Amino acid sequence: MAKVRKSKSPKRDLYGFAETSETNDEDADLPKDEAGRRKIKRQYQELLGIRIEKLKGRILNRERINKTIEGIYFICARCTKVCHSLDEGLQEDPNNVNNMCAKCAKGRTAAA
Ligand SMILES: [Zn+2]
Repeated sequence: MAKVRKSKSPKRDLYGFAETSETNDEDADLPKDEAGRRKIKRQYQELLGIRIEKLKGRILNRERINKTIEGIYFICARCTKVCHSLDEGLQEDPNNVNNMCAKCAKGRTAAA
């Protein structure tokens, strides 16, 4: 289970993102899952480009982390960032058109 990570391996991001340098140290300390999610979020962001505008508020992907926890990638309807339910939090919209990260959901309640 406790797979030893070959830490500090100079493995480059497969997708050639330029901004990896700034995260190098961080990544080494992060749990693999979180680092992995960050990468995936970035990939979504790259992949979707301006389509993020159209897809905001939608869920991109669900993944089962374990028996009880589900991880959800989505685009926040307000800040239009690619978020993950475990990292940014998810205020899920049953209609799947207005999903928001916890921060934005809170902001809305306060501002409303
Ligand atoms: Zn947000």
